[in-house]
Formats: sequence, C-alpha cells, structure tokens
Amino acid sequence: MEKCALYIVVPCYNEQDVLPITHEHLMSLLQRLMAAGMVSDQSRVAYVDDGSTDATWDMLEEYASDEHVCAIRLSANVGQQSALMAGLEAVVDRADVVVTIDADLQDDIEVIPQMLEHYNQGCDIVYGVRRERKTDTWFKRTTALAFYRLMRHLGVNSVYNHADYRMMSRRAVQALLRYRERNLYLRGVVSLMGFDTAHVYYDRAERAAGQSKYPLRRMAGMAVDGITSFSIRPVRMVLTLGIVFLFIALAMLAYVLIAYFTGRAVSGWASIVLSLWFIGGCVLIGLGIVGEYIGKIYIEVKDRPRYHIDQTIIK
Ligand code: UDP
Ligand code: MG
Repeated sequence: MEKCALYIVVPCYNEQDVLPITHEHLMSLLQRLMAAGMVSDQSRVAYVDDGSTDATWDMLEEYASDEHVCAIRLSANVGQQSALMAGLEAVVDRADVVVTIDADLQDDIEVIPQMLEHYNQGCDIVYGVRRERKTDTWFKRTTALAFYRLMRHLGVNSVYNHADYRMMSRRAVQALLRYRERNLYLRGVVSLMGFDTAHVYYDRAERAAGQSKYPLRRMAGMAVDGITSFSIRPVRMVLTLGIVFLFIALAMLAYVLIAYFTGRAVSGWASIVLSLWFIGGCVLIGLGIVGEYIGKIYIEVKDRPRYHIDQTIIK
C-alpha cells in the first residue's frame, strides 16, 4: 500500500508558552511515524496562527525552517473553528489524511497511530474521544455535559466528549470544505457528513502550559452557535408556548366572565400587573430566539470570506 501523507493541523492563538513543548512532542511523533513507515516523508505539522499578538508567529517562522513544518498566518483572530478551516483548506491538496488537534496537548497525540490504523482500514473520519474529564474543572465538566445533553435533545447529533481532535481522509476534508456557512460548528457539521467513522479513546490531560483561550463568554457563544445553527426547535418551542398561553388566556376569560356575572367583580390589579410582566417576559424571550436566527441569516447572506491568509510557508 502507498504510504499516506499525514498533515497535523494545529490552530494557535497566543500559544507562545505551550508551543515549544507541543512542537517537540509533535515532531518526535511525526519522526517516529515516518521511521516506522506508517506515513510518507511528505507528512507535515501545519500550524495556523490565528492572529496571535504574542511571539507565536516568530516561533512558527523559526519552526518552519524544518521541511516537515508548515506555518500559516491569518491576518486577524477569527476563532478556532475558522482557523481550523483555514488550515484544512491550505493543506487539503497535499494531504492524504489530516489530524486536527489543539495546540495545548490536552489531547493525547499517542493515539494518532491508532487513528491511522482505522484510516488504513477504510475509515474516513476517526473521532478522538475523551474517556473522562478528570482534569477539567467541575464547572467545565458539568456545563459541557449539560450542553451535550441539550444538543441531543434538540436533535443535533454530536459525538459525546469529542472536541476538535479528529482524523479525516482527504475526501472527508473536501466534503467538509463544501460547507460554506460562517457560523461554524465543526463537530456538528462533521457528524452530518456521513462516511465510515471510528472512535479512539484517550484520557484528557491538563493544558501543558499557558491559559485557556476559551473563557466562559466564548464557551457560551460556541454553545449558542452550535444550537442555533443546527436546530430550529427553539423557534418551535416559542410557538408551542404561544399556543399554551392562548389556552391559558381563554381560561382566564371564562373566569373573568363568571366572576362578572356572579357579581364578584375582581379588584384584579395584582393579577394584571403580574401577567403583564409574565407575558412581556415570554414575548421578549421569543423575540430573542427569533432574533438569533435572523442574525444568522444576516451573516450568512453576506457570504463574507471566513479568513484571509497573511503568509504561508509550505515546502
Ligand atoms: N484557538 C484559536 N483561536 C481562538 C481561540 C483558540 O485558534 O480564537 C486555539 C487555541 O490556540 C488552542 C485551541 O484553539 O489550540 C483550543 O483552545 P483552548 O485550549 O484554549 O480551549 P479549551 O481547551 O480550554 O477549551
Ligand atoms: Mg485546551
């Protein structure tokens, strides 16, 4: 069998603290794989600098003097998901198979050989799945679990405890690149594509160095993107709620009429004020959800490019 060219795509945003460690590990893995004949000499580690403001790019430039390293610099910070797409688009013509992985080494790179085995057996997508989340904080664990559950409830299929650590064959990457949407939620899109898939399991480690680039605000943003770009159920829920309210209103009307004709005229101020707030709140929630979708349409119809490449070093 022909040896395949493996590209490891790594998005980096202000990762100067962790990059030396990551680079060392990834290169030693790549050398081992090449020496063992599992991948061809054309294999590369491809770093995508997502508009970092620290020394990340300088370091990447230096690493790229090695022929087994590519570096791609985006002109601005566009977020991990779009940075991944930029990396995939840049390498898809050269790579037979691509692994995407975070720069912080939280995902165990030692399962890449296992992923390659699945690839050689004909799988197009191999998901890296965390066995447990011991190293994450309690808060991150619980919110993440709640999120996966909610997504499943809303009818979005995603692989539980799988982030953006996965292997894809060239044709899977080509298929992924055909999704032109800007509100990108890769996990969801990849599981929509079909193809033969497999899972490999690993324990998630602590971040090797540096700070998480996903503060709560960004995590919440990603969750909202994931839900609203895949499911219209929230809109339906508003509709259902509206219908329920209509029935409640009917019941109220009956009650008011009965009270009126039996001469028990209600003083009623409290209940009116209460329901004003209640209904007002519901209307606002509904508007908010609808607005979320309209906002998405607005962004999609503009069909803006997802990123711009500032500089590419590929040998
Ligand atoms: N990242 C990126 N652009 C961003 C934010 C993050 O490319 O705007 C990269 C980051 O460098 C890392 C990966 O996305 O390689 C995951 O980020 P992080 O480890 O901070 O997220 P966490 O593991 O805490 O969810
Ligand atoms: Mg991380």
